[in-house]
Amino acid sequence: MSKLPNVTTSIFSVMSKMAAEHNAINLSQGFPNFPVDERLTDIIAKLAKENVHQYTPMAGYPPLMDQIAKLVYTSYNRKINPESEVLVTAGATQGIFTSILALVKSGDEVVILDPSYDSYESPVLLCHAKPVRVALNDDYTPNWETIEKAFSAKTKMIIINNPHNPTGKILTDEDFLQLEKLLSKYPKALVLSDEVYEYITFEEKHISAHTIEFLLDRCIMVSSFGKSFHITGWKIGYTVAPEYLMKEIKKVHQFLVFSVNSISQVAISHYLDVVDVQLLGKFYQEKRDYFQKLLQNSRFELKPCEGTYFQVASYTSISNDDDVTFCKKLITDHGVAAIPISTFYSDHKDQKLIRFCFAKDNLTLEAAAKKLCEI
Ligand code: GLN
Repeated sequence: MSKLPNVTTSIFSVMSKMAAEHNAINLSQGFPNFPVDERLTDIIAKLAKENVHQYTPMAGYPPLMDQIAKLVYTSYNRKINPESEVLVTAGATQGIFTSILALVKSGDEVVILDPSYDSYESPVLLCHAKPVRVALNDDYTPNWETIEKAFSAKTKMIIINNPHNPTGKILTDEDFLQLEKLLSKYPKALVLSDEVYEYITFEEKHISAHTIEFLLDRCIMVSSFGKSFHITGWKIGYTVAPEYLMKEIKKVHQFLVFSVNSISQVAISHYLDVVDVQLLGKFYQEKRDYFQKLLQNSRFELKPCEGTYFQVASYTSISNDDDVTFCKKLITDHGVAAIPISTFYSDHKDQKLIRFCFAKDNLTLEAAAKKLCEI
């Protein structure tokens, strides 16, 4: 008997595997294909010969926890206690899973906004709680009326993802005002804020939960060094939460992983001394602009992209196929892999939209765009 009867292999694995099998250019799963900063690879090479290979303390390597507190302070002017409010995790995925497992109980409800990233629902189901999936508006802004209708006395948590995967949308001051109004009616509801793309925003500034006063005592914030430092395979990130919540999260963390791999933690603690995360937005803005320009004469209609490294595109003037079929044919017939947006919806709503990842070197973007413009 399956505990997750409706779960199948993630669309990211399916599309990456298919891309490899057909030798297609992989713009599906979100990961960069350019080299990692040499300052970071030099640090890790040097560290390999040092005494950094044993367990770190359970919640994280203390100098890294200090660096995370410093990063939150310099980025958002928020002071947090590294010892009691920070947890180093094996990627944001583990931060999300661990926080839900620690805080959501059987019978609770968790509001998830669709299209939604795929790792929110399963931990909720494993807690015997109920995911309540609410669609965003067609322009991907939150519909606060329908969100309010989805809230009840059973609501334990709402998950927000800002900047948003797959749509690239970011939340506004007005959204946080609406959230505050809603949460004032539900004093026990928590917020899980997935901000793995926090440093990848373009024209508009990212508004982090760290800067929202009413959230500070009820929000779990999750981030990923994988996104910020182009090292998705290292699987390292962090979670910040007020002490009363973090105490519970740590109880689960210590039995799920105990501690995260030591050498990455030490390396990142050193790297944070030299890297400037504030440059990331500009770097990806140039990629976004270049990719959009390359596709200007294609038959794809590109949607607005305010942040993340994903570009949503409509193919209505190309094909009437559903988006999963279209993505498969895009690989087999045209040599480019993308992600069908319907897979981010609980009802698999097909809007003929697909997602491209533009975290690629320019040669890859050019080669992909050439193929896409020929369709
Ligand atoms: N977050 C990545 C994406 O959206 C995928 C990560 C994964 O494969 N689990 O493409």
